[in-house]
Amino acid sequence: MNDSDLIPVRYLNEYAYCPRLGYLEWVESEFVDNYYTLDGRFKHKRVDAQSDKVTEEGEGDKAHRRSVYLSSKKLGLTGRIDLVEHEGERATPVEYKRGKVPDTPERAYEPELVQVCAQALLLRESGYSCDRGIIYFIDSKTRIEVDIDEALVSRTLSLLESFRELVNKGEIPAPLNNSVKCIGCSLAKICMPDEVRLLSEAVEKDEEDRYRRLVPARDDAVPVYIIGQGSYVRLDGDCITVTSPPPEQERETIRLIDVSQLNVYGNVQITTQALREFCERSIPVSYFSTGGWFYGITHGHTSKNVHLRIAQYDAFRDGERSLEFARKIIQGKIKNCRTIIRRNSTEDETTTLKALAACGKYAVRANSMEELLGIEGNAAHIYFAVLPRLIKPRGTDELEFNFEGRNRRPPLDPVNAMLSFLYAILVKEITVTAYAVGLDPYLGLMHRPRHGKPALALDLMEEMRPIIVDSVVLTMINNGEAAGKDFIKGMGSVHMSDGLRKRAIRAYERRMSTLIKHPKFGYTISYRRVLEVQARLFSRFLMGEISEYPAFCTR
Ligand code: SF4
Repeated sequence: MNDSDLIPVRYLNEYAYCPRLGYLEWVESEFVDNYYTLDGRFKHKRVDAQSDKVTEEGEGDKAHRRSVYLSSKKLGLTGRIDLVEHEGERATPVEYKRGKVPDTPERAYEPELVQVCAQALLLRESGYSCDRGIIYFIDSKTRIEVDIDEALVSRTLSLLESFRELVNKGEIPAPLNNSVKCIGCSLAKICMPDEVRLLSEAVEKDEEDRYRRLVPARDDAVPVYIIGQGSYVRLDGDCITVTSPPPEQERETIRLIDVSQLNVYGNVQITTQALREFCERSIPVSYFSTGGWFYGITHGHTSKNVHLRIAQYDAFRDGERSLEFARKIIQGKIKNCRTIIRRNSTEDETTTLKALAACGKYAVRANSMEELLGIEGNAAHIYFAVLPRLIKPRGTDELEFNFEGRNRRPPLDPVNAMLSFLYAILVKEITVTAYAVGLDPYLGLMHRPRHGKPALALDLMEEMRPIIVDSVVLTMINNGEAAGKDFIKGMGSVHMSDGLRKRAIRAYERRMSTLIKHPKFGYTISYRRVLEVQARLFSRFLMGEISEYPAFCTR
């Protein structure tokens, strides 16, 4: 057995709590902090802070040793023990736990008992006599003594064996069924227990309501955009300060805990110290040209879930699987285009809606990627032909918004300028999400790989284009937030003014924060969280846990 095959004791604890949690954390290297994990880490600090005091004398002849690392190839276990109290050949592991002593007959939960027992077994393998362990509950300041008896040893070894079998099998266990454990689980937003059960079990429509929907806590951090040319970003303790160029040199300070991502346009300087801190805190920094062209991202280490990326590469090589996924996203995109037309048109669009519905049906039956792309192109042509009718005529501005189909690089009219600017932000958003989920954003299943093109982000973006970007552009034009005077024309292209770009970013962010009822899961969710849910469902599809990728379609 290699050292890398040894199972860490803390993952055995997680496995005892929930086999799926143990698998996600140990095999798929997923980890997310929540209140409980942060609180636990904070409370462990005192123990860790003293780890340099290797040995200290305690009461009587007892010696204390903190942060003791032990491994046993025979057991297939490794782990760190917070504190070992020993007296001659007798040793007692002490495990610190956040919270209070639970109201159970054993005065501790099974995962904690198993964890202490596993530590005791490691001490025995190291030559110590160990027949008891201690769990110290920090909030109650109480030590609970645990008998390392035969029953506990047998339960611990049996869990260890079944965990190892699971790891070797490489198949993620099904989520728990309506368990209260999921409510406090830090990985709920990755695991998505209720969503996965709903999608993986054959559920009749009228039975869907009996499925619980666990809604993870909302993340209060927001994206920060810096578009002022010559601005300077530097680290200032737990904040960043953004200074505008001379002569104004206005300073703005933002707390890092309030920042989910940083987006910089054009010539903005960022200090190395600030970049390092962004990487450390997993805050991605995205770079755009002044016109909004998305260049790339700086981010910390990528997800360690290599199995997911292998599954993504396998799906890429599997033509039928790629086509299956592509059919879903194109069908979803066409449905969402129809929704945008229905919501915004004041004319009778029956013919167009029928034509698009027919494209959706053909997309489901497409026999090849080429055929599907042809259908998608036809649907886009029909949809963009309607777009001018969705724009309210407004006197002299009418000509300014005369849209005659999609064009880009450079955009030739105001509508295309706005669409291109916001599509670039959306593709960045999905690239960032794909990295966070552990996917390779540059390997798509429908968009083929090309140097520098985030093909997977472009795939996942298809169904979201109409309901996010097109919707924002139409709203801004129709409510007067964008007018003809906000565009600069020259050299055969059209560009947005600085003021309009700021307003477009604000409108985009409003849209991303808009709460909607999820059409399938029934809970209230923001568009930003929808992007993550879709990327996670795509990863569950890649890992074979759900048989189809469910495109997101609003009604
Ligand atoms: S959310 Fe529930 S099923 Fe998923 S890992 Fe956590 S406890 Fe297990």
